[in-house]
Amino acid sequence: MSESQLELCARAIAERLGPESAVVVLTGAGLSAETGLPTFRGAGGLLNAPELLEAFTADLLQRAPRLWWEVFQRLRELLSEVRPSPAHIALSDLEALLRPHLRLVIITQNVDGLHQAAGNRRVLELHGSARRYYCTCCGRAHSFLPEHLVELPPRCACGGVIRPAVVLFGEVTPEEVWQEAYAAAQRASVMLVVGTSLQVEPAASLPAVALYNRALVIEINPETTPLSGAARFSFRAFASHLLPLLVERLRGLLRQKMAS
Ligand code: NAD
Ligand code: ZN
Repeated sequence: MSESQLELCARAIAERLGPESAVVVLTGAGLSAETGLPTFRGAGGLLNAPELLEAFTADLLQRAPRLWWEVFQRLRELLSEVRPSPAHIALSDLEALLRPHLRLVIITQNVDGLHQAAGNRRVLELHGSARRYYCTCCGRAHSFLPEHLVELPPRCACGGVIRPAVVLFGEVTPEEVWQEAYAAAQRASVMLVVGTSLQVEPAASLPAVALYNRALVIEINPETTPLSGAARFSFRAFASHLLPLLVERLRGLLRQKMAS
């Protein structure tokens, strides 16, 4: 990544932003990779550990809930240890920077809750959250489950199996969240696409929606993706390195813009 590309990108964003502008950030597993949470694809991804990947199938949860929970507990242990990365913090700083005037919406495929932990307020979780639970039988929400579970699977007072509120393979994104995400992509003046391989629908379609509506689209990913050729700026970089630099540059430019 060259310094001048970063500067050009920050300037292009600042130029785009006006009183009615909305900034949308689409994030994927790569954003959380630097916290120690594995991605699906790429080096060290979960696709290399098929037994962990099974924890993401609705079919296994239904057929063998105990086995499913044994695998899922390993992911819960990882989740209990991770904290937001500098990339998450930079996005929270960006929301604070824009807040008095403009709107920032995060659309995430991640289920780790790290955007909220970093302080972002407007987060659309396309695949739900592994930090919330509900009963598969009566639907009751269970906001808290102890880290160490004596019995697997955990059960509701009604006897039903409790599960996390995540969208598993074989399930679909809830319609309401999807509609909100789609509308945000349509309204976006600027869209940042960070740490997603864009292999999973429907999230993979959102950058095309933004491009169609003439948004300034910027990608940050150490590897190329189907978006890389179409994005106005495509940085081969790690999110925790580039996002803090970009937000710092923007801070100065937006201050100047608002003062003038
Ligand atoms: P993916 O695993 O398919 O792709 C990850 C992408 O991130 C790759 O393109 C990779 O090059 C990039 N990447 C790796 N390190 C990066 C870094 N430091 N900075 C920027 N980019 C980096 O991820 P996906 O597109 O989000 O799709 C995977 C699905 O897996 C999603 O549906 C998501 O729900 C689920 N998932 C979530 C988590 C999580 O919540 N943290 C973790 C694994 C998988
Ligand atoms: Zn119940």
